[in-house]
Amino acid sequence: MTYHSGRHFLQIPGPTNVPDRVLRAIDAPTIDHRGPDFARLGAEVLEGLKPVFGTRGPVVIYPASGTGAWEAALVNTLSAGDRVLMFETGQFATLWKQLAERLGLEVELLPGDWRSGVDVAQVEARLAEDREGAIKAVCAVHNETSTGVTSDIPGLRRAMDRADHGALLLVDTISSLGSIEYRHDDWGVDVTVAGSQKGLMLPPGLSFNAVSEKALAASKQAGLPRSYWRWDEMLGPNARGFFPYTPATNLLYGLREALAMLQEEGLEQVFARHARHGEATRRAVQAWGLEVLCRNPAEHSNSLTAVLMPEGQSADALRQTILERFDMSLGAGLGRLADKVFRIGHLGDFNDLTLAGTLSGVEMGLGLAGVPHQRGGVQAALGHLAETSGT
Ligand SMILES: *Cc1c(COP(=O)(O)O)cnc(C)c1O
Repeated sequence: MTYHSGRHFLQIPGPTNVPDRVLRAIDAPTIDHRGPDFARLGAEVLEGLKPVFGTRGPVVIYPASGTGAWEAALVNTLSAGDRVLMFETGQFATLWKQLAERLGLEVELLPGDWRSGVDVAQVEARLAEDREGAIKAVCAVHNETSTGVTSDIPGLRRAMDRADHGALLLVDTISSLGSIEYRHDDWGVDVTVAGSQKGLMLPPGLSFNAVSEKALAASKQAGLPRSYWRWDEMLGPNARGFFPYTPATNLLYGLREALAMLQEEGLEQVFARHARHGEATRRAVQAWGLEVLCRNPAEHSNSLTAVLMPEGQSADALRQTILERFDMSLGAGLGRLADKVFRIGHLGDFNDLTLAGTLSGVEMGLGLAGVPHQRGGVQAALGHLAETSGT
């Protein structure tokens, strides 16, 4: 192994760089999770999460990766054989579908090109056909991390309302929460799924379900077997700041600190910062003469950018060169995009100089790996940052 001085650049789209403040908060003695100090911590984080989801309702915290919260959203609301409508935005939508099928749900997957978001009109047409209400839930990934494409969740809600359909709306915000505007209550979402290790700037290990009243009512009737994931078992003790089983105490210290940081910066500023860095990154890609995978500018993700390699060039070889020479990790192409794209994470604890360093590493790596491109991507990004530095 070559010795690398300085900090590793972890520019995959999650896990993201964990701020020192959060690391220091986690570095504390583990306390009695049935004692009074814990009750205060529990109450504080359960309450503090609500504005981040844009909800007044409960948010359930699991000691699990995001995949656990996907499963929790389904098993708490649905019954075996229920029909669920999903949209193939990319790898994460595909994985959620597989999980749903393994649970015994009937999944109808509307096909997609892995370069676009949910086709809201198509969903509306499908729901309008479903007069007998066989579809019990619509599941969407807000920010498809495999492609860098966002979907229009308020538009999806309006489409469901226009079709006058009673299905639940379940949304995965694992790589958008705390980075891209999101409003659980105002957008009429029934279950929001999130994770700790992306916009929330925490290590992996926590995941979340924000739950609407309608979803809570559905959970009383839902027939899928569930035990560990039961909302009712959580919400009882949560009312006093406690958990039914041992919570991830030290990660919750980190969560309290991360929530304080988001509040100090202000959510609107957090979203504006991500938008500015997303746009600067896209300008760099354009200047290099490379193509952003996302087709529609209105759907560009502000938390990551997936970049298509020129024909015949290996994204994995480029990422390997960049890792070896500059100690920077970039996201790999997933599923059918393997080796065809690389992904630049620009979410979480991230500033102008982190962006400058990240894009410099990519530009130098393109040169070293012999990928045909033009120089000037970093310059184009810095230009955008300079023009918008007052914002
Ligand atoms: C990361 C991610 C997941 C998977 O979460 P894990 O924590 O790896 O289980 C699911 N959906 C999206 C959109 C993601 O970005």
